[in-house]
Amino acid sequence: MSDVLNYDADCLFCKIIKGEIPSAKVYEDDLCYAFKDIDPQAPVHFLVIPKAHIPSCAAVTPDNSAMVAHIFEVIAKVTKEMGITDFRVVSNCGPQAGQSVPHLHFHVLSGRDMTWPPG
Ligand code: 5GP
Ligand code: ZN
Repeated sequence: MSDVLNYDADCLFCKIIKGEIPSAKVYEDDLCYAFKDIDPQAPVHFLVIPKAHIPSCAAVTPDNSAMVAHIFEVIAKVTKEMGITDFRVVSNCGPQAGQSVPHLHFHVLSGRDMTWPPG
């Protein structure tokens, strides 16, 4: 795998990007990495993360927001290649909202009926 900008040595997802922790790759390019969630909540459940240590949605700024746009392009491309038309994209921000890994990530879930609002 490739390098990560602003690498945080204590960050689980930075370690996954660097290949220090194994993961099941779904997609990779110079800017982002997608891999299967270790505890899937739907028949399809993968995560897309920037190859930069951005802690959460709350840390998105004009300097790094192009990364978020790129990730959404990747989500559209990868789901299309998988033949998925209906899916949910979730990014939990902060512990009360359910964020457990402080490296920006987008969950992509599909393959079952979903309810709204989420719990
Ligand atoms: P959050 O709870 O922060 O929204 O999402 C973090 C996600 O990372 C969870 O869905 C969790 O299952 C997943 N996760 C945590 N540790 C690992 C790991 O070591 N490998 C993979 N593939 N996923 C992980
Ligand atoms: Zn990180």
